[in-house]
Amino acid sequence: MRKTIIAANWKMNTLPKEGVEIAKKINNYLSGVELGLNKKVVLGVPFTHISKIMEVVDYKKIAIAAQNCSQYDFGAYTGEISAEMLKSLGVQYVILGHSERRLYFGETDEIIAQKLQQAYKNAIFPIFCCGETLQQREKGNHFNVVETQLINAFVKVDKFNFQRTVIAYEPVWAIGTGQNATPEQAQEMHVFIRKIISNFYGHEIANDISILYGGSVIANNARQIFKCEHIDGGLVGGASLKPDEFIQIIESA
Ligand code: PEP
Repeated sequence: MRKTIIAANWKMNTLPKEGVEIAKKINNYLSGVELGLNKKVVLGVPFTHISKIMEVVDYKKIAIAAQNCSQYDFGAYTGEISAEMLKSLGVQYVILGHSERRLYFGETDEIIAQKLQQAYKNAIFPIFCCGETLQQREKGNHFNVVETQLINAFVKVDKFNFQRTVIAYEPVWAIGTGQNATPEQAQEMHVFIRKIISNFYGHEIANDISILYGGSVIANNARQIFKCEHIDGGLVGGASLKPDEFIQIIESA
């Protein structure tokens, strides 16, 4: 059964103390709410916040995501954090392939594919991001771009591992810009992504995978976006740092 997931991506924001306060507010709200088995709230927090936030949230209500992991197992990779290290802290999700990692840190499809393998190996659910730039959309290449990202990421991933994946469609032009994709544009791409998955892994798996939309989701547009049949929640950046707004977004899903 497909899950609805509302995932926060805090990026490189907040000090641990501030992050703990935000997490506590979201946790307080969720303590009075029955989310049901099919709805999940995930907080994608900086590495430095993970342990502290885990101490203050109810793991039955809130899962913690890291925003990256190394493509390597262990060893002489100064500054890197392995998926195994994250697992040992109790991290359940990891955001991979985010456009900011692709753009600012040179992450290629190949590196992202290696990181996906690390996540699977350590039983962490990857939230795999894909999406086109404005230029690519304007040239009419958006479907090709997303298809290539998916093929390169999952070409070596078997059915068992793929089932543990969450996809986030994040058009780059909508991230942090205040210009969200229209529900129609997002729905159209989500249907396309589900078709690609179906070609790879079959209809049943395609139907079960959660495909989130990300890109300037705020309290004011969340309901419209989430009511689309093929949109199974959101990956939320800026608005997830405002707990009251993030709570409204959770309520909209
Ligand atoms: C993101 O960074 O994944 C994102 C969707 O950011 P924002 O919501 O701020 O556009």
